[in-house]
Amino acid sequence: MSFSNLGLCAELLRAIKEEGYTTPTPIQSKSIPVILSNKDVLAAAQTGTGKTAGFTLPLLQRLKTAYNKDKKSHVRALILTPTRELAAQVAQSVETYGKYLPFKSAVVFGGVGINPQKALLRKGVDIVIATPGRLLDLISQDCLDLSKIEFFVLDEADRMLDMGFINDIKKVLAIIPKQRQNLLFSATFSDDIKKLADSLLNSPVLIEA
Ligand code: AMP
Repeated sequence: MSFSNLGLCAELLRAIKEEGYTTPTPIQSKSIPVILSNKDVLAAAQTGTGKTAGFTLPLLQRLKTAYNKDKKSHVRALILTPTRELAAQVAQSVETYGKYLPFKSAVVFGGVGINPQKALLRKGVDIVIATPGRLLDLISQDCLDLSKIEFFVLDEADRMLDMGFINDIKKVLAIIPKQRQNLLFSATFSDDIKKLADSLLNSPVLIEA
C-alpha cells in the first residue's frame, strides 16, 4: 500500500514525500479512503499510530475539492483537542501537510493572550484547531463565525470527556451546521464516548488500527 493508492492529490503526496513517509500506517490506510468518501468516522487510535495524518491529510483534500479561490476565507473545518500541546501538534501537521495547498489555519488555545488569536482570525482562515474554552471565548466575543463549518473533528475524545469538556462540546455542536462530516478519534471507548458518538455521528464507519 502506498499513499498514492489512497487517492491523495499531488500537493499532499509531495508534502508527505518531503516528510520522508513511504508507507501509510494501518490507521491511515483505513481512515484516508473513508474520510475522502465523505463518511463520518469513529476511530479507535492511540497516539503514535499516525492518527493525526490519518485525519488531516483527507481533511485537507476534502477542503480542496470544494475550494473557491475567489471567495474570502471562512472557517470550513474545526478540529477540537483537549490540550494546547495537542492543538499545537495538530496545527503543525496541518501546516506541514498543507504547505502546497492554499488554506490558512489558526490554532487557538487558552493560557496565552487572546488578541493575537483575534487578529489572526480577522484575516480569515479555513481551518481552526482549538481547545474548547478559548474557542467559546472567541465565539462569545464575536471573533469566530462557525456557521459554515463543513468538517468537525474531535481528537482524543476520551481525554476531552475526562477533562470535563462535555458541556463545551455540546455548546459548539449547537452552533455549527447540522450538515457536515464528523470525525471522532478516541483511544478508549467508554459508555460516555459511545453516547457522544451516537449524538454526533451519522452512520459512522468504525475504524480500528
Ligand atoms: P501521531 O500518532 O499522529 O501522533 O503520529 C506519530 C508520529 O508518526 C508523528 O511524528 C508523525 O510525523 C509520524 N508519522 C505519521 N505518519 C507516518 C508515516 N506514514 N510514516 C512515517 N511516520 C509517520
